[in-house]
Amino acid sequence: MEGTQMSPEEMEQRRNMVLQMCVCPSCPSWVECGEKGGYCFPTIGKSGCITEEKGCTCPGCPATAKMGLKHTYFCTKGSEMEQSSA
Ligand code: SF4
Ligand code: SF4
Repeated sequence: MEGTQMSPEEMEQRRNMVLQMCVCPSCPSWVECGEKGGYCFPTIGKSGCITEEKGCTCPGCPATAKMGLKHTYFCTKGSEMEQSSA
């Protein structure tokens, strides 16, 4: 997977880019608990507070287009990398 070949600096840059694009806070499943979203990203992964799947706005998120994400519900099911290897 692409994430494993990146330097720590690149990973951090990419992580910040994903967090800026993330539309999770406007999702029906969102629970406010101080998290910033970006659950699709390998070093973020599942939410510690979202457990109920009430809809997912990931398909309309710029990160989905930009990174070619194939999955949804990253907050409950894990990052793109996690779900791809499951
Ligand atoms: S794809 Fe989903 S989890 Fe990833 S940044 Fe966008 S809204 Fe957040
Ligand atoms: S990962 Fe999907 S379901 Fe979870 S909060 Fe983000 S948009 Fe909503």
